[in-house]
Amino acid sequence: MEGFDKQNVLKAIPPVNEILDSPEVITLIERLGRAYVIENVKLIIDEYRKNIGKSKQLDAEQHHGTRPEVTEYLIKSLKDWIEQQQKSGLKKIINATGIVLHTNLGRAPLPEQAVKSIYEVSQGYSNLEFDTETGGRGSRHSHIEPLITRLTGAESAIIVNNNAAAVFLCLNTLASNREVIVSRGQQVEIGGSFRIPDIISRSGAKMTEVGTTNKTHRSDYSNAITSDTAILLKVHTSNYKVTGFTEEVSLQEMVELGREKSITVIEDLGSGSLYDLSLLGLPHEPTVQDSIKTGVDLVTFSGDKLLGGPQAGIIAGRRDLIERIKKNPLTRMVRCDKTTIIAMTAVLTLYLNPEKVVEKIPILKMMALKEHELTDNAVELGDIINSALEGKCKIEIVDDLDEIGGGSLPGVILDGKAVVLTVENMSANEIQVGLRKAKVPVITRINKDRVLLNVRTLEKVDYPIVVKAIADILE
Ligand SMILES: *Cc1c(COP(=O)(O)O)cnc(C)c1O
Repeated sequence: MEGFDKQNVLKAIPPVNEILDSPEVITLIERLGRAYVIENVKLIIDEYRKNIGKSKQLDAEQHHGTRPEVTEYLIKSLKDWIEQQQKSGLKKIINATGIVLHTNLGRAPLPEQAVKSIYEVSQGYSNLEFDTETGGRGSRHSHIEPLITRLTGAESAIIVNNNAAAVFLCLNTLASNREVIVSRGQQVEIGGSFRIPDIISRSGAKMTEVGTTNKTHRSDYSNAITSDTAILLKVHTSNYKVTGFTEEVSLQEMVELGREKSITVIEDLGSGSLYDLSLLGLPHEPTVQDSIKTGVDLVTFSGDKLLGGPQAGIIAGRRDLIERIKKNPLTRMVRCDKTTIIAMTAVLTLYLNPEKVVEKIPILKMMALKEHELTDNAVELGDIINSALEGKCKIEIVDDLDEIGGGSLPGVILDGKAVVLTVENMSANEIQVGLRKAKVPVITRINKDRVLLNVRTLEKVDYPIVVKAIADILE
């Protein structure tokens, strides 16, 4: 590229207006507004100028003699840049990890009924806090409460932002400046910054630790009770297992002790399944119903773990205690918005029909998949990849282990099936990064230096998207 004349190239840069008048840019303006597009046109032109200033000679792509050529180049740069900008922000991704409740990938995908309901009800006005019978003010809690009480046998219930908030509200309302007794074996930390001791102290309560890491006896609790004790707290060790020489006091025993001493007993169930997972061949996880049956005063659980709904925390139990929690001013700060309440209503409604619930709630459906179904799915995905990308990559179907994840059922491993993807001259890491950076990112795991696409967490509608992502990295 001899004879490159910087001055001539700079002269060929069109004025901003000329770029704005191009039909492609007009489309961008219609979508994103004039001010935003102008800002970015100026940015692209500045960048272009700077590059020319820096370079001794322009590479072939940037060697544009004429103004139309430069204009075309700038418009393409603008479109790429804006697309890049729009990519950040919350978006759909494909979970090919086989981890059903992936904490970083939005935990539970919502059932179709919940999504439809959000679409139908939140688009316009709703009776969120309006009583259509009386024409007076209603309560946002009234939509969820009858469903929870029907499904769990609890007397009353309230929904808040997440389970961390639910636990905090219980302690703050019922144990402020008083003692909460917890076993040393249940000082749970959940990913992020949820630690039971911190939550207790921030709630204004004082923590009394009892027992040891591996063993806590009923007498440990009863000996620790003073006239200042407000709550016996049981925390479900939802993301780890204490095994070996262990003992913990059952909820039933804690409830009996609480009754005897007139002390409130609360259980933080964490995952809070409403469905008996042993029916899916999984280990029995205590359900919310099981807890309520013991006579516990309150239980708290998440909406987006084993329940399979939107992010939320539910407190269920004694009416008089729930009424006090409702009146706590902090409850207002962690109340759910309408989309959560709409989605949760739809999800809980699905639980009314035990025969259909597994099929309708995505995470239950994924957990219930049988080996032959997983094999069929893996074969189908493999065939689609093969027929679309004949010979450009290699696939193989292997056994792999899936997980429930999301701090639920620790140590429970599900037998899974995966499509192994190999591409000549590409490392597993390169394939993984390529898939992750696809337009719709596909998130994978690497095992023994091979990229796996675990089919348990893929929906059939995801298959063409996966194929597209693979096609893109092969280019
Ligand atoms: C997950 C979990 C929490 C926190 O619930 P979020 O809904 O994530 O706020 C609290 N306690 C236990 C035992 C948990 O498993």
